[in-house]
Amino acid sequence: MEPLPPDLASAYDPERFRRQAHQMVDQVADYLRAATTRALPVLPWVEPEEQLARWSDALPAGPSTTLPALVDAVLSGSNHLHQPRYVGHQVTAPLPDSALLGMLTSLLNNGTAVYEMGPISVPMERSALRWMARQVGLPPAADGVLTSGGSVGNLTALLAARQLSSGRDVWTEGAGDGPPLAILASAESHYSVGRAAQLMGLGERGVVTVPVDDAFRIRPEALPAAADAAEREGRRVFAVVASAGSTATGMFDPLEPVADFCRARGLWFHVDGAHGAAAVLSPRHAGLVRGIDRADSLVWDAHKMLLLPALVTALLFRDGRASYAPFTQRADYLLRQETQDQWWDPGLRTLECTKRMMGVELYGALALHGTAFFSTYVERMFDLGRRFAAMLREAGDFELAVEPDCNIVCFRYLGAGGDLDRCQERIRSVLLRQGAFYVVQTRLRGRVYLRVTLIHPLTTEQDLVELIAGVRRASAG
Ligand SMILES: *Cc1c(COP(=O)(O)O)cnc(C)c1O
Repeated sequence: MEPLPPDLASAYDPERFRRQAHQMVDQVADYLRAATTRALPVLPWVEPEEQLARWSDALPAGPSTTLPALVDAVLSGSNHLHQPRYVGHQVTAPLPDSALLGMLTSLLNNGTAVYEMGPISVPMERSALRWMARQVGLPPAADGVLTSGGSVGNLTALLAARQLSSGRDVWTEGAGDGPPLAILASAESHYSVGRAAQLMGLGERGVVTVPVDDAFRIRPEALPAAADAAEREGRRVFAVVASAGSTATGMFDPLEPVADFCRARGLWFHVDGAHGAAAVLSPRHAGLVRGIDRADSLVWDAHKMLLLPALVTALLFRDGRASYAPFTQRADYLLRQETQDQWWDPGLRTLECTKRMMGVELYGALALHGTAFFSTYVERMFDLGRRFAAMLREAGDFELAVEPDCNIVCFRYLGAGGDLDRCQERIRSVLLRQGAFYVVQTRLRGRVYLRVTLIHPLTTEQDLVELIAGVRRASAG
């Protein structure tokens, strides 16, 4: 055996780690100050090909940079979610404490598929999930898992739904026999719902679109006709997906009447609350999710309205036993289900085998800051969304797509005349290149709207005053 090469030894040298970590924390803290005080542009825009050219694929055999230089390059070129004028997609400015915990969990790297591989993270995961289930109002038998994103959560929930309410054991028998299956969802549901259905072999027509009203909310009175039409075509409907809220507009489907319909027809009721399930934490806004406690399954992203770094998603089932339905495989080297409730081996119930130590991150954030902190945050951001809508209305030269339910607001600038769609696109492109604000766009009722998500806890009304002024200026640019 050769002696240990010096660079391998040095890579694991604790003193090297200590030195580098101290230096990096200083760099990141300085960055955090610059970002949160708005001293940085939100997104230092560089054309993709030009950016690519800076990161050569001709990686040399020896080191080609140092950690401080690399950190500096990554910090300066990234999209600065900690800048309070980041008001784009639904991704948070993560709690700095959680980023520190992330360093710990990255280093420990306990895979958490089975208890032995995550003896701290697995119990923390279970307790955090039980706390969430109580906030939602689910019964004590509720249980679930943490998984890698709302998209995976929706897929996993629909696998359980198919296994438990389609009358077929598709997991074992395959989908070949029997009538084709279908789910009902509104056109405003997240694309991952349709993708999950198609992954499950339901085909494009396996997602029956339920119409929405003028406020982009599912029309519960249209559910029976949608289900009947699918059944007439020979499809067996097994689930309804409701959004709380939907991604593009943040509007909340009325959950009570959807739950009533599901109960009457014996259908699985899945709530995609990736963004908005956190409304349960806000006394003022919990009414948006009335009926959420009747969900058979529920997705709630902690990397959206619980301020965690991506990805940490809670998937909850009202009957904890259902959480074992999506996957029922043995893998003798790792997974053996031997009891009915084998909570200590989360890999039995997740698409992931190895997964990050999400339990530590979620439980850690709740314990470090206290749960009231998150209630305050959610309430404040939902309030700010409504305040921004009021400001746009009062401005006179803007149009709201809809009076917002939460912290997602879609609007158009009307003051420039000409082709209004082109105008919104131009505004977004100018703002993107200036880096003063990061806003996104969407298409609603066939027209282009600017879209903001007010998700940074330090975003103020004054920022929004300046956003309005910035949009007006950009329309001329
Ligand atoms: C963001 C979002 C998703 C997707 O979640 P990821 O965590 O990004 O995979 C699904 N549904 C809704 C309603 C969302 O807002």
